[in-house]
Amino acid sequence: MTKFQPASLVRELADLGVRDVGENRHQEAVAKVAEVDDPRLAWHFVGQLQSNKAKAVRQYAATVHSVDRESLVAALASDDGRVLGAFLEIGLSDEPGRGGVDPQEAESLADRVLAAPGLRLLGVMGVAPLGVEPRRAFARLREVSERVRRVDPSATAISAGMSGDFREAIAEGATHLRIGTAITGNRPIPG
Ligand SMILES: *Cc1c(COP(=O)(O)O)cnc(C)c1O
Repeated sequence: MTKFQPASLVRELADLGVRDVGENRHQEAVAKVAEVDDPRLAWHFVGQLQSNKAKAVRQYAATVHSVDRESLVAALASDDGRVLGAFLEIGLSDEPGRGGVDPQEAESLADRVLAAPGLRLLGVMGVAPLGVEPRRAFARLREVSERVRRVDPSATAISAGMSGDFREAIAEGATHLRIGTAITGNRPIPG
């Protein structure tokens, strides 16, 4: 994850062999992708996404990790000939409104993605909520992953784990880790 980091840092990472880069704000991402301009990189969009930005994100992102509602699936769908990878963001907090689809609605959202042109369902994504033991949150995510795989056996990916909790995420089957500061050092203060 390179949010708030300059394009120069992304270039350094690319020269060291990094190929997957995560951003969480569209305005910042679109500028950075253009500035870095490196065809070796796959860009991952990992954040709150407004439906009116969805088509623009398709232009530069290989994968979106934050598909959390049917209206966003519809906005991301396209027959432009490209295939965008999609993770369903699963809400792992007991408090409603904390982001992510309700785990009970994961299968129906998966069905929507499967029916949408230009999207490929990769799996599920989750963020361990503050105040919850991360291993417990990721165990819940793994259960949801198992249900989604009954809908689509190829949707095996689990995007989970950040600098502070990637060990717990790996223990619960994470396939895609979203590491920021443990690789880059502290983020600059956002401007
Ligand atoms: C920023 C971010 C990360 C990376 O966090 P670090 O603590 O810097 O590793 C992971 N996931 C999401 C959704 C993020 O926004």
